[in-house]
Amino acid sequence: MEMKYLTLAEHAVREYAPDKIYMANQIAKRAAALYGEDKVINSTLGECMDDNGKLMILPTVENLLRNMSIEDMCSYAPIAGLAEFNKAVQVSLFGKEVSDHFVESVATPGSCGALRHAVWNFLDDGEAVITTNWNWGPYKGICEEHNRRLETFEMFNEYDSFNLKGLDDKIDELAHEQNHILIILNTPAHNPTGYSMTKIEMDNVVEIIKKHARNSTKKITLCLDVSYIDFDGTFEESREIFDSISEMPENVMVIVAFSMSKSYTICGMRCGALVCLAHTEEAMRMFKQAMAFSSRSVWSNTVRSAQKLLIDICLNSEKKTSADMERNLFKEIIAARSRAFLEEAEQCGLKCCPYKSGFFIAVPCKNSDLIAEKLKEKHVYIVAMPYGIRFSLCAVTKDKCRRTPKIIKEVLNNNAL
Ligand code: PLP
Repeated sequence: MEMKYLTLAEHAVREYAPDKIYMANQIAKRAAALYGEDKVINSTLGECMDDNGKLMILPTVENLLRNMSIEDMCSYAPIAGLAEFNKAVQVSLFGKEVSDHFVESVATPGSCGALRHAVWNFLDDGEAVITTNWNWGPYKGICEEHNRRLETFEMFNEYDSFNLKGLDDKIDELAHEQNHILIILNTPAHNPTGYSMTKIEMDNVVEIIKKHARNSTKKITLCLDVSYIDFDGTFEESREIFDSISEMPENVMVIVAFSMSKSYTICGMRCGALVCLAHTEEAMRMFKQAMAFSSRSVWSNTVRSAQKLLIDICLNSEKKTSADMERNLFKEIIAARSRAFLEEAEQCGLKCCPYKSGFFIAVPCKNSDLIAEKLKEKHVYIVAMPYGIRFSLCAVTKDKCRRTPKIIKEVLNNNAL
């Protein structure tokens, strides 16, 4: 039946789809008010909370924001970003300005905006993005919003390491149908599994890409979504993946989705960048032109104060050292929570996805919606995902992390399919 007074174009008509994560969070909050904070394990959101349930914000960030000039707070920024933003992004990501590539960083609203730019600009209509089957939910929505598709391959092989063959086969399959290949890999500290690809695995990914790039009609883009990079290992360990990508054929480009949300604890200030590691100045210039056009036409410029914050921290060694030290403390809190969860999981025989670092642990299971409902009855609130459930270490105290695996295991045993 035709709906009256509704003039939406057909492609814009959507099913009612409430945000599962925020809904679960609301229910958990109500339960905490009713039964007491201690009785409820609210592991829904992806923001870092301290043991008193307070949002964790780097003191250096808070200090700089509170003392920022009103002009930097309120004024427009240039479309692609403030003059020193590109340099600050490189210092944040690589420790210094990069000399072996031509690097450009176009400011975006978080890495979400960066991924949007990647999906729109590196594929044609109807083409598909390749990523892992465990993935951040909005990847699919970003593809659909832009008339693209999401194609996935199984993330882990039988040894619980990265499934290189799955990636190789998926590229092969899509290369028969489309000329652009865009691969998005979220590493290190992958959401939702906490997996970090090793340097050897990334070397192998590069070899696979090089093999497919021998067909010169194909244009291949590797997009590394490194939104959680500062919550993995040491700086050097977490950056090893970049060493794999130095030499690439002419028909390949590497781009990086950078986020300030986690590294600088400013999720709500919406700042990140899409970064290109180009082999020629011309390629870098074309990248910037395309991304700046997209920015201008979608959101115009992005939040100036957040860009200024990055510059103030990354281009001042004293402030950078403070921010890095503060973040290390946050990282240690999350690591201690992960150890508590995993030790207990091992004790009770709960099988988790291979976790190394980061905000989340995933437990593979069938019928995750049902499991999530059953867990709610025990006042444990998690996020149901297509291949299992996601537990947010970043939002739950160490004590609760220790209590949870047994409850999950029990619910899985009682609802085995
Ligand atoms: N990529 C992954 C894997 C994420 O988990 C998130 C946010 O949770 C993002 C990208 C987007 O983050 P933001 O847009 O806040 O930088």
